[in-house]
Amino acid sequence: MSSDNALPIHIGGLTKKYGDLYALDSVDLDIKSGEFLTLLGPSGSGKTTLLMAIAGFNRPDSGSIRFDNQEMILTPPHRREVGMVFQSYALFPHMSVAENIAFPLKLRKVSAAETNQRVEEALHTVQLDGLGSRNIDQLSGGQRQRVALARAFVFRPRILLMDEPLSALDKKLRERMQIELKQLHRQLGVTTVYVTHDQREALTMSDRIAVINHGRLAQVDTPTSIYNRPANAFVADFIGESTMLPLEHRPDHQLTFGDQFVATVPDDNPDSQWLLVIRPERLLVADDSQGNTAAAITFGGIVKEAVFQGDSAFVLIAIDNADDIAVRFSTGSASAMANLQAGDAIAVGLLKDDIIIIPREAG
Ligand code: ADP
Ligand code: MG
Repeated sequence: MSSDNALPIHIGGLTKKYGDLYALDSVDLDIKSGEFLTLLGPSGSGKTTLLMAIAGFNRPDSGSIRFDNQEMILTPPHRREVGMVFQSYALFPHMSVAENIAFPLKLRKVSAAETNQRVEEALHTVQLDGLGSRNIDQLSGGQRQRVALARAFVFRPRILLMDEPLSALDKKLRERMQIELKQLHRQLGVTTVYVTHDQREALTMSDRIAVINHGRLAQVDTPTSIYNRPANAFVADFIGESTMLPLEHRPDHQLTFGDQFVATVPDDNPDSQWLLVIRPERLLVADDSQGNTAAAITFGGIVKEAVFQGDSAFVLIAIDNADDIAVRFSTGSASAMANLQAGDAIAVGLLKDDIIIIPREAG
């Protein structure tokens, strides 16, 4: 299917208050045509409020929402041609699967013949061939969510909005549906805004992630950039595991840890306080043949805890004058770490490319 129908969304200065609370605080966000963008944030951060503003179900206090170049703020929901999927499937229980999916077409007065054809296509797309005449209560949770999905895209909306659509499903099914939704998006090519509080889900599915906290965007970027280059402590902490260590800011603009050089303060951000962000899986065990020579910074310490977790092992290292450092390494047979025990001395290091620094105050 083509993506000719997809639209870019421009959001500018969008603010929504509930009493004194800023549910959205001057949000600027440009979503590209055909993009899969995920709004990721903790509960209460404003994700649903933003999605509902795009759909037209709530009226912001100020700001702009444009589809392509068309201002939508005053356009009622049914004129926005947006498909929606919610956590609670919101299906009509007294209608069959096919009738549920046909509903948006009926509203739009599509002919019976075309309706039948499109419903069949939609059933096929969500892998429910042959189940059109079933009742909703004869379906599993995963199947119901597929019906809700089919109903959301059957009328070829220009934008698809999904609010935590998988959170009612168990973990295995959720992970399978994540991949299916991604494939479906590729097939439909429709601009999609997806809401989740699950960082792993966001990393799995998205072209870009917009991290939201207290109604403000903390960072908007690709999954790899969000993970590898978090812009602030909130993002570094919310996405992935990390240890953050305070750095010393020397008069020559060098950031150091102990007597080791870590980075130079970026010219465009002269903030005085900086943190080193360490991703547990990026630490190398510094044995003399490799790690010590390759690592740009090394941390020596004592193993406090070593835990086998199947596909990986987790080790907590106590170092002098700083928080414990968390390390994660794979448990392959070649692992030099297989027999680590509490009390062992250990040294771990970071490659230059894996050094992440963030300003302490921002975010
Ligand atoms: P999220 O979807 O990220 O969990 P919401 O957008 O639902 O967050 O809510 C953002 C904030 O706005 C929360 O503090 C929530 O309590 C508040 N809020 C949302 N809807 C209303 C409402 N109708 N009336 C009052 N406060 C609301
Ligand atoms: Mg919500």
